Amino acid sequence: MIGSGYVGLVSGACFADFGHSVVCIDKDVKKIAALEQGQIPIYEPGLDELVAENVKAGRLSFTTEFAGPVGDADVVFIAVGTPSRRGDGHADLSYVYAVAREIAAAVTGFTVVVTKSTVPVGTGDEVERIIRETNPAADVAVVSNPEFLREGAAIADFKKPDRIVVGLEDERAREPMVEVYRPLYLNYSPIVFTSRRSSELIKYAANAFLAMKITFINEVADLCEQVGADVQAVSRGIGLDNRIGSKFLHAGPGYGGSCFPKDTLALVKTAQDHGSPIRLIETTVAINDQRKRAMARKVIQACGGDVRGKLIAVLGLTFKPRTDDMREAPSLAIIQALQDAGARIVAHDPVGMEAAKPLLDERVTYAASPYDAAAGANALVLVTEWDQFRALDLGRLKSAMETPVLVDLRNVYSREDAARHGFSYTSVGRGVDD
Ligand code: NAD
Repeated sequence: MIGSGYVGLVSGACFADFGHSVVCIDKDVKKIAALEQGQIPIYEPGLDELVAENVKAGRLSFTTEFAGPVGDADVVFIAVGTPSRRGDGHADLSYVYAVAREIAAAVTGFTVVVTKSTVPVGTGDEVERIIRETNPAADVAVVSNPEFLREGAAIADFKKPDRIVVGLEDERAREPMVEVYRPLYLNYSPIVFTSRRSSELIKYAANAFLAMKITFINEVADLCEQVGADVQAVSRGIGLDNRIGSKFLHAGPGYGGSCFPKDTLALVKTAQDHGSPIRLIETTVAINDQRKRAMARKVIQACGGDVRGKLIAVLGLTFKPRTDDMREAPSLAIIQALQDAGARIVAHDPVGMEAAKPLLDERVTYAASPYDAAAGANALVLVTEWDQFRALDLGRLKSAMETPVLVDLRNVYSREDAARHGFSYTSVGRGVDD
């Protein structure tokens, strides 16, 4: 498993748990040193136990060296990052291609090379070309096997996926891929075998569709605010239709995270390059980009139109609960916009504060609890719906605050509850604001 980040480490640990012998490789020396000492570099529920058990059982190990493990492997997974390329939004494939060259130099005997990273259509062709060019004697079958796990529920998602997608051009890869996923196959998780290009596109189409669904309900929420309707009732009313489905219909501050923003953008670029623009997704990207600063304007409005010199407490920094991942978190843009408007920011997140610090302005201060964050604040803004924030003592919060303004960007509280505790309450898409 090359790349031991959110996807590589979870996949590696789960494959080991299935009984396979797995070596997780990373070029990040510190990460590997930490893993060798039993420290998990990311926050993912259950991952520390899973890694520890499989290391103890001798099925899982870590290294920075390619040659030995890749040479020995039947199947090599590429799980390195594919961030947005600075400047043009295309997926940056330099890490994938660098790994392809390293694999080419290290393989011995027939080896299945599997791209698990999210890569644009046609990348498998290029990985194959690079390997053959670097080592004409290499005997490889290059497969696409995109990953659909969600951070925060990654182990359960990996072990009980809705589907496994395998795109291959060389039939010799089919049996090893079935073997790798056999325990899931036995659990009736469907495996979709398809061509490599279709497989690559499935991942982008899935993420783009989900991003579009979130963006759709966010725009409906805005309309609800104008017409005095309740977006939660609308979501429920449409989500019960099986053709629509109730998931991903929660209005909020816009999608963020390590996947949707970069993957929607990469799909837009791929489609434009092929003369077949997907305008729905172009629009989705534009709407979502604007939404984060619009949420800051919501906060400013809730504070009476001016936040200069005011202290705003932000609850939740990570892009979603149960992860420490700060990539493209809506909190970043919201806090920046509030600071641009002259606000002072105090923040609290159950696990994300360390990861957030290097990304946020140094004037942001951090509190040890929601109640500490509320002390002396002029407004409390709930940005990430951590379970810890679902049953806060509103009375205690109110008495700690300078002015009782609650902006609930995840619709966790009810207007009635907030009002009963004396809060001026603003949420997303639930009728006319205070
Ligand atoms: P990550 O940044 O957490 O991990 C990537 C790892 O690859 C890092 O540890 C990095 O040091 C390592 N790496 C980079 N270049 C390397 C090289 N040449 N040799 C060895 N290691 C190298 O990224 P991630 O979130 O795990 O994402 C990996 C891929 O999986 C991306 O393409 C992403 O789009 C996709 N994906 C991510 C998720 C998710 O929820 N994070 C879900 C599905 C798919």
